[in-house]
Amino acid sequence: MDLLDRDHPKEECGVLGLFNPSGDVARLAFFGLFALQHRGQESAGIAVSDGQEVRMEKGMGLVSQVFNEEVLGRLPGAMAIGHTRYSTTGASVLRNAQPIYCQSTVGEIAVAHNGNLINASALRESLEAEGEIFESTADSEVIARLLVRNLHLGPENAVASVMKELRGAYCVTVLTPRMILGFRDPFGIRPLTAGRVNDGYMIASESCAFGPIGGIPERELEPGEMVMIDADGMRYAQGAPPKRPAMCMFEFIYFARPDSKMYGNLLYDVRERMGAILSEEHPIEADLVIPVPDSGIPAALGYSQASQIPFREGMMKSRYIHRTFIQPDQRMREIGVRMKLTPLVEHIAGKRIVLVDDSIVRATTTKQIVRMLFEAGAAEVHVRITAPPITHPCFYGIDMASRSELAAAIMTIDGIRQHIGATTLGYLSIDGAVRAAGGGTHRFCLACFNGEYPLPVPEELSKDAFERPPDVGQIATVHVGS
Ligand code: SF4
Repeated sequence: MDLLDRDHPKEECGVLGLFNPSGDVARLAFFGLFALQHRGQESAGIAVSDGQEVRMEKGMGLVSQVFNEEVLGRLPGAMAIGHTRYSTTGASVLRNAQPIYCQSTVGEIAVAHNGNLINASALRESLEAEGEIFESTADSEVIARLLVRNLHLGPENAVASVMKELRGAYCVTVLTPRMILGFRDPFGIRPLTAGRVNDGYMIASESCAFGPIGGIPERELEPGEMVMIDADGMRYAQGAPPKRPAMCMFEFIYFARPDSKMYGNLLYDVRERMGAILSEEHPIEADLVIPVPDSGIPAALGYSQASQIPFREGMMKSRYIHRTFIQPDQRMREIGVRMKLTPLVEHIAGKRIVLVDDSIVRATTTKQIVRMLFEAGAAEVHVRITAPPITHPCFYGIDMASRSELAAAIMTIDGIRQHIGATTLGYLSIDGAVRAAGGGTHRFCLACFNGEYPLPVPEELSKDAFERPPDVGQIATVHVGS
């Protein structure tokens, strides 16, 4: 549980695949996963192969909490996949941590998945009817079990065959004893980039994972595309026919790290452009533009540059309160956002403030921040948001809240303004977001803003569709291999 978590949509997961022919791939995977930590902080795992056997270590917590020298020492080999998890389907418990390991008489695999399947229940029911026994409640195990059932076709054909059955958002990395595979759903909803590292190859959810381990990203996988990595090199194939591209707009607005590139654009620059367009769409006379740290910084800079209103930091973020197992007591809860953000009273008092943030989900945190700024002496607080109003839930791997909890689904914009106590409130338009991210609306999923889901979603898709009572005496890590 993130202490005093801000009211944001929650990141989904990060996936990684690495082939380092000179060995010691686990250490590279560890540092690569560090760069994907923002995509999931509930659990982390690495599976490796030494060419003969797949071994795996995973556990609850941050990458740095799950792995140390001793654990990495149990992961010899040149091929690895890795995962950081935030739960979108299935509870945050160890049995749902990834990679997921499956074995059959034909072979063994480990699977790491980012996204959300919308037909997972139906697939799981039919697999269970055929005798499969599931160990987790995560939809990702459906992918793993389907793959292992098709392994007799060979890994590439198994992936292509399974892609025909999957509906929803998925970027997956797969490890067999002699191959790494990566594949992306036919709409390309979640990101996946391939490239080189040392004398080997790499795939990762985001290009920001390449730099820290000396990798060079080469290209994003196309919708429906798969990539195979083994001792013969890296090659691509079309695993499933592509549909219209529908990459998640929220990756551009908030989820992905600003030093990642998507559709070839650096996300820091995309967010600056979002801020600049926001200032054109919602101009205001003010003294200062301040960001909600850290995610609002690039957009606030863009707003400041375009509006000529000076940029200045107006609050400091406590960097080390991020994650703790100590629960706040009632008094601390009442202090609320102040535990994480401290106002710079000297910068704020008497000023007309433009407050730039990336999104409003339930509006609880924005309300607390606005109140904090007024208590620090702000004369006016003009809230500017780079995500268009969120009116619909996400079924493709982002945990947003149900529709009845979404501020923009149940209130008018002026109702939200009054609710958060802001002087004015302005959201970036959908067109503005698309223009900043580059390209036309036909390249993006915008469903949480306009309700137009690129692939139909079932009436009721519950996060805990497969949930069972928690394990008794749950252990903290899982270990597979000799
Ligand atoms: S519905 Fe929203 S959050 Fe979900 S994939 Fe589409 S753009 Fe992203």
